[in-house]
Amino acid sequence: MSGEVSAWPGAAAAPVSSAISLYARATVGFEARLAATQVLLREAAQAHAGHIVQATSLGAEDMVLTDLIARAGLPIAIGTLQTGQLHAETLALIPAIEQRYGLRVEVYAPVNESVVHFVTRHGERAMYESIDLRKQCCQIRKLEPLSRMLDGRSAWVTGLRREQSNNRGAVATSEVEANGRTKLNPLADWSWADIWHYIETQQVPYNALHDQFMPSIGCAPCTRAIAVGEEFRAGRWWWEDEAAKECGLHVQPRHH
Ligand code: SF4
Repeated sequence: MSGEVSAWPGAAAAPVSSAISLYARATVGFEARLAATQVLLREAAQAHAGHIVQATSLGAEDMVLTDLIARAGLPIAIGTLQTGQLHAETLALIPAIEQRYGLRVEVYAPVNESVVHFVTRHGERAMYESIDLRKQCCQIRKLEPLSRMLDGRSAWVTGLRREQSNNRGAVATSEVEANGRTKLNPLADWSWADIWHYIETQQVPYNALHDQFMPSIGCAPCTRAIAVGEEFRAGRWWWEDEAAKECGLHVQPRHH
């Protein structure tokens, strides 16, 4: 690895039961997967110069991608959605990224009038009342801000992995969406052990909630810790059926 990335003060303080101690493992083929990811990101940065963004959820996968982008000095913008419902631990990663890597994080918030109107009409707990209301909330707080992030960009980078859920089992490393925009999922074939092996070896900052059995972290009202044996995304919209458990950011595109 190369790159001018300074030390992260929190990295040395991982507790004994941390996500690193639970999950990080060097597995067969890791170096090849890492090398392929680095090539994919470099080629995408060249092909979409000035028009490519990493849409980071600030989860473990996305922190790996931001670290790879920063170490290679790639001209890929970093953008995140500030839904207004994120945990303090998640929000803390925005200044952590800016401080560690010297990168500016673009922050996209929902339209305030839309949020006020929705909450006034449906209440703070609308997401628990029906899938339709939950999706309306995601539309206002995530999809509309994401569309602004992607506006004028020909490619975006996500941390999707096939292993994350049945819905994501067919994720390709490169896809073309119906609107012609390229969606890159460079970690599609990485395992959870790979992610944490990289975080450990490169001392990548990560969300403290990962140390509290939250492998997949979204908005606070819609995320809970998982129990031993539960699936990776069991803590997201846990009151809904498996088939409904996406927020609409990741629709099924055409594959390359
Ligand atoms: S994840 Fe929950 S709080 Fe966040 S936008 Fe969707 S419904 Fe709203």
